[in-house]
Amino acid sequence: MIGFLTGLFVTMKTGFRRPVTAQYPDPEKRIKVENRFMGFPSLTWDYDVEEPYCTGCMVCVRECPTECMTAKMKDNPLFSEGKSRRKKIIDEFEINLGRCILCGICVEVCNFDAIEMSHEHELSKRVRNGNRFGLQQLLKLGIKFQSNTNWQPKQPEKNSGVPVKKVDEE
Ligand code: SF4
Ligand code: SF4
Repeated sequence: MIGFLTGLFVTMKTGFRRPVTAQYPDPEKRIKVENRFMGFPSLTWDYDVEEPYCTGCMVCVRECPTECMTAKMKDNPLFSEGKSRRKKIIDEFEINLGRCILCGICVEVCNFDAIEMSHEHELSKRVRNGNRFGLQQLLKLGIKFQSNTNWQPKQPEKNSGVPVKKVDEE
């Protein structure tokens, strides 16, 4: 009898417990990911000067183990106008997210706070090469990540695009 009541109690307790499973297709019922979750890589945006942090230095491209990244830099027009500290800026950037293994090496090796592992992890596509993400798409992922996590650069003094003379004037 005691065993029966114990079993009944466990069943009832479980019946009233909050569900731990997510209703996957329903965006409102999914489990929120933690800030440390590593989804696909994304590029960050420097709001102080309104340009990407990425200078197109190619370090991440060289270190990526699956060779799924390409980048091209250009002279930064904002630097010539005295509005940015970055002499070079990213011109074209592409990551084939279909080949990315989410290892995070690109984030580790970037010296410019320019790339972060976002929270995006649902990018299934119906077309071949549908996950080749260009500069604007990667920035869009990054801006969303920055806003959701209140992201701050790890080395703000070194990597801020605000021209040095402006900092001195303040
Ligand atoms: S993300 Fe970082 S390492 Fe990669 S090209 Fe841009 S600045 Fe260089
Ligand atoms: S997370 Fe790893 S595989 Fe993906 S782009 Fe970065 S370095 Fe390459």
